[in-house]
Amino acid sequence: DMTTATMDLKQHIRGIPDFPKPGILFYDISTLMRNADAWQVAMGRVTHAVAPWAPDMLAAIESRGFLTAAPLASRLGCGLVMLRKPGKLPGETVAHSYELEYGSDTLHIQADAIVPGQRVVVMDDLLATGGTLAASIALLRKVGANVVGASVLVELTALGGRARLDVPVRALVSYD
Ligand code: AMP
Repeated sequence: DMTTATMDLKQHIRGIPDFPKPGILFYDISTLMRNADAWQVAMGRVTHAVAPWAPDMLAAIESRGFLTAAPLASRLGCGLVMLRKPGKLPGETVAHSYELEYGSDTLHIQADAIVPGQRVVVMDDLLATGGTLAASIALLRKVGANVVGASVLVELTALGGRARLDVPVRALVSYD
């Protein structure tokens, strides 16, 4: 209906200043998820954005990527794999380390999670500098994925993260 078609999801996402450290405006999707109608609309819009890529598998980035990818995989009828921080995944894993503003971070995937050539869409809550998604795409390629797109709820366009990614990106809402 019209309410669904015109709902402004930004009204359900709050910006919390100085979290997790001074100078950062943190976009909190907790309030979006708390509102049943808004969350349903958001997941419907992500489904429409991602379905044309016809993924075999969604790859969800710990931890808020899990929250968007799980309902989406269910709607699309595709599989779901977790990209996790060190020490979380059982069995043999493949890792990829990447630089942050201060220090570095590592993501793991189970070594047998992807059948080489599978079409994979990577999902997170938010695109900022693009470092996390770029690392996730590199990790997925290490295990043979054909990464066909990246999907986020929120994009911070001024940070230029999209330009660091060599796959198409879809975002539900964006902020300058
Ligand atoms: P980046 O690697 O710079 O694109 O940062 C994206 C990752 O950090 C995502 O996993 C986000 O959850 C988180 N993140 C970065 N900046 C913010 C922000 N301003 N608000 C909420 N989450 C953020």
